[in-house]
Amino acid sequence: MNGFRNFMTGRYGTDQLTIALLVAGMILTFIGNAFDLYFLIMLTNAIFLACAYRTMSKNILARQKENYKFLQYWNPIKSWGVNKYNILKSSRNYKYFKCPNCKQELRVPRGKGKIAVSCKKCNMKFIQNS
Ligand SMILES: [Zn+2]
Repeated sequence: MNGFRNFMTGRYGTDQLTIALLVAGMILTFIGNAFDLYFLIMLTNAIFLACAYRTMSKNILARQKENYKFLQYWNPIKSWGVNKYNILKSSRNYKYFKCPNCKQELRVPRGKGKIAVSCKKCNMKFIQNS
């Protein structure tokens, strides 16, 4: 184990981009094997080689820049997914709807009948069935 630690000293290691590439590679491998797509399997080999290269790389600054670029695209997708998951989780207790004026997403507690709602964003007041 000490030899491996010495080998990895000064090398980049894994980050979010490497993990995303590994997951994408595994999915593409599964699809390639299921449908006998030879070029897809070759592509996944290239992806796995890129993962190994990034992990072993000593050019840490370049790898961090690549990861930063990836996160610029990934973080909005991730927060959208987390937001949708939270809405699904709490939809038993809250009713979600959009403001008729500015389309801001709002929520009210369920089972309170017709209630007066004022939008936090545009301050429009309207009656909403909960
Ligand atoms: Zn509004």
